[in-house]
Amino acid sequence: MCVSLDFGYYFPRYKTLSSTRKEEFERLCTHIIDNPNMQIQLIGPKSLDNALSVPIDAAGLVAGHIAELFLGRTDILDRVLGHPLAFLFYTTRQAYLDAGGAMGGQFDPIRGAVMMEHKRLVEGFGAERPGVSPFLHEFGHMLDFVDIVLGGYRMTSDGMLPGLRKNDGAIFTPEARMLFIEGKQLERERYLALANSAARKPVSAYPIGHPYVFQNDGEFCAGYLELWLRNPNYFATQNPRLFDSYATLFKWDPRTAWPKDFDFYVLQNRAFFDSGEPLWPCGITVGEP
Ligand SMILES: [Zn+2]
Repeated sequence: MCVSLDFGYYFPRYKTLSSTRKEEFERLCTHIIDNPNMQIQLIGPKSLDNALSVPIDAAGLVAGHIAELFLGRTDILDRVLGHPLAFLFYTTRQAYLDAGGAMGGQFDPIRGAVMMEHKRLVEGFGAERPGVSPFLHEFGHMLDFVDIVLGGYRMTSDGMLPGLRKNDGAIFTPEARMLFIEGKQLERERYLALANSAARKPVSAYPIGHPYVFQNDGEFCAGYLELWLRNPNYFATQNPRLFDSYATLFKWDPRTAWPKDFDFYVLQNRAFFDSGEPLWPCGITVGEP
């Protein structure tokens, strides 16, 4: 498999690696794409023959995102790759809707599939640094639903990434779990304090995420993973324990690759809190340490 993508541009971590580790990253991408459980498909509208060939950039982008996250935890990745992982990209919005897609992208636990319009896979790559990444969000949902113990996908979400659950066996990372629960508790407290405050004018105690991700544990899981990858500097300042949870789980500090955040999400989230618009009810839970 030969991918002609500019890894250094699409995956900032790549640029921080030694030449040996760069080769490891590339081998990992090949390993991901060649895995028989991986299904990466391009699908056209119903009216056309659906057997379209997958553009090499789509396969490379999927593999690169996954490799960037799991380079230091191939033990977790190997467990994840033991499940059928489908990535279904649709050529048009209509093709996506015809297949049962909703909103801007989704993870379907019945099909075990991340589904979105193909063009959204490269969304956020037009500026100096990678930005908005619907793929990372939906992949976060996929990771939450992977059932490491029983195989396949669970039908309900508990908002925990593989390695954070006590029954995850050899990949369980107790320190990361403890930090995650403490950090999530703090986010929940900040959100509730804002929701219950008439003035809504905290100076430093904003939750990091948008009210959307406080609806339930699954959205929190997907949204915060994406925020950690795109705004690591702000994330670490606001909630160091939660930042360290991900850094411990993935054995990586994304600040080394991101001297400056992609702060679009942060600004948008803070603007929402400042707008005075009603907040979503808080539906996230915090598990037992
Ligand atoms: Zn979501």
